Amino acid sequence: MISFKPGIEFAKEQDLIDPLAHYRTKFHIPKNSRGEEWLYFTGNSLGLQPKKTKQYIEQELDDWAKLGVEGHFEAKNPWMPYHEFLTETMAEIVGAKPIEVVIMNTLTTNLHLLMVSFYQPTKLKNKILIESDAFPSDRYAVETQLRYHGYDPVESLIEWSPRKGETLLNMEDLESMLHSHGHEIALLLIGGVNYYTGQYLDLKKISELGHKKECKVGIDLAHGVGNIQPNLHESGVDFAAWCTYKYMNSGPGSLGGIFVHERYAHDQTLKRFAGWWSQNKKTRFDMRQPLDITPGAEGWQLSNPPILSMAAIKASLALFSEVGMPSLIKKSKKLTGYLEYLILKLNNNNISIITPKDPEQRGCQLSIKVKNANKSLHDKLTEENIITDWRNPDVIRCAPVPFYNSFEDVFKMVEQLKNILNV
Ligand SMILES: *Cc1c(COP(=O)(O)O)cnc(C)c1O
Repeated sequence: MISFKPGIEFAKEQDLIDPLAHYRTKFHIPKNSRGEEWLYFTGNSLGLQPKKTKQYIEQELDDWAKLGVEGHFEAKNPWMPYHEFLTETMAEIVGAKPIEVVIMNTLTTNLHLLMVSFYQPTKLKNKILIESDAFPSDRYAVETQLRYHGYDPVESLIEWSPRKGETLLNMEDLESMLHSHGHEIALLLIGGVNYYTGQYLDLKKISELGHKKECKVGIDLAHGVGNIQPNLHESGVDFAAWCTYKYMNSGPGSLGGIFVHERYAHDQTLKRFAGWWSQNKKTRFDMRQPLDITPGAEGWQLSNPPILSMAAIKASLALFSEVGMPSLIKKSKKLTGYLEYLILKLNNNNISIITPKDPEQRGCQLSIKVKNANKSLHDKLTEENIITDWRNPDVIRCAPVPFYNSFEDVFKMVEQLKNILNV
């Protein structure tokens, strides 16, 4: 374990010896009106733009201009199989086999499509379990799925809550809920890394607990992908979905990704909604063929996908593939550990960190709770060029991203926090 030191010299030294430091120059860092770079800690909300992204999108715009419809086959990166260019790296990032992963649609859409297949309620087994502090979109998706099947969320939505007076989820509580209610639960849909607390849950354990009670298990990895290594295949979860505009740096509203475990790759009996892109590639363009679902995650696609958005994903994946998750995570642990060290050193009773202390149970984000604070704290930080994310009632979410944040960024952020709070 590295021992951290106070003072900006330490931060500067760490930046000098950081093997990933130069990746910062491969991203556009937004600037304020005085031309000073922001200290950007909201890569968990919208990741920064790689400088190469423009070139990747321009390539497709040029090919569209030059080739029109022929671009489907004749473009430098033919559009017909374009999504396939993304699969291998994406699969590696989430720890999956290529047949288990595809880039398509957006996150909430994908959650619905996957629930069409994996939420199959029966008279006795029809409930869905989510974490009590689930992201609102996931909650709405689950509530409307329940209603769609004729169930009332008041009865059929079960929440896994932290214990009284605590903020983090406890695996033993999930175990005991499943022990007493597992026979009624059809699906667990859990955020792998909670958006609010930053808690990274043991996916393999959740999968084992759920499957023991014959529940399907789905994971939302919006805050996990590109941040932690979820080893999806090995975890055994049935499905997962994520977006690519947070840690994956693929642009606002960019496409999402899905994982469907290999054990369903050739299962044509699963219920699903299909479109022409679900169809076996050999007969897709015969146009008059009966539905023959393409094997693997690709079989959940409906439409021919937006190439311009995929070009941005391709640009970002090239960076991930160059660096690899192990190096990113190595830096991430150190950078977040440093932020934690500086916050704890403030030694102020009003300031605490709600994210787990164990580096194996979190990604890069720390959620900092400031007693009696309100959003004006966040606004003051913004005035000082520090971009963080405020969550009511009193939490600042701060995500130092290993790709483009520096130790100096982290040092300066805590210095400003100190000044503003006068601690
Ligand atoms: C960011 C996020 C979403 C957003 O969903 P979109 O469909 O991409 O708008 C949903 N769920 C979680 C957990 C998120 O973190």
